[in-house]
Amino acid sequence: MNIAYLSIGSNIGDRLHHLKEAVRALHSHEGIDVTKISSIYETAPVGYTEQADFLNLAVSIATSLDPFELLAACQQIENGLGRVREIRWGPRTVDLDILLYNNDNIEAENLIVPHPRMGERAFVLVPLLEIAPSILHPVTGTPFAVEAPDEEGVLLWKKVKEVGQLL
Ligand code: ATP
Ligand code: MG
Ligand code: MG
Repeated sequence: MNIAYLSIGSNIGDRLHHLKEAVRALHSHEGIDVTKISSIYETAPVGYTEQADFLNLAVSIATSLDPFELLAACQQIENGLGRVREIRWGPRTVDLDILLYNNDNIEAENLIVPHPRMGERAFVLVPLLEIAPSILHPVTGTPFAVEAPDEEGVLLWKKVKEVGQLL
């Protein structure tokens, strides 16, 4: 069985509902068990800033899928929840990104793991470190750290303690 970490975000419509639907869809996949879930955080948009605030969380999964099958499953869930790609880093009903997959280092055209921008994103690292506080970067072997958490505007929005709360 493989261990992977995913980041899930939403900033359109009923954001909590979209996060729940994404977690449910992952968990109901026969090759995926959602084993840990972070609290939900609210964050101002990064990159393209003329859009609504995001809700973000991180999950740990145990999966029999290989990384490319997992990417396909994530994209199928995004499409099922009505994601339309218009603006890069723009508004979305749901975004499911693969942060880590075992200790793999993947550099394919359609899949880069560890996620190339995770190290600089407090909205990714704050939830990830909540569920995996001592995790190391698979390539550099160094811990992930949030530079200035207070200044990054990542606010606790809903405390979550177990996966069942979002199913
Ligand atoms: P970002 O990747 O900066 O968070 P985004 O999530 O908005 O941006 P998407 O539109 O969701 O970007 O995805 C663009 C492409 O990124 C996808 O078609 C996918 O093939 C590719 N991709 C590369 N690495 C990953 C990864 N680790 N997880 C998810 N998608 C990835
Ligand atoms: Mg993303
Ligand atoms: Mg994405």
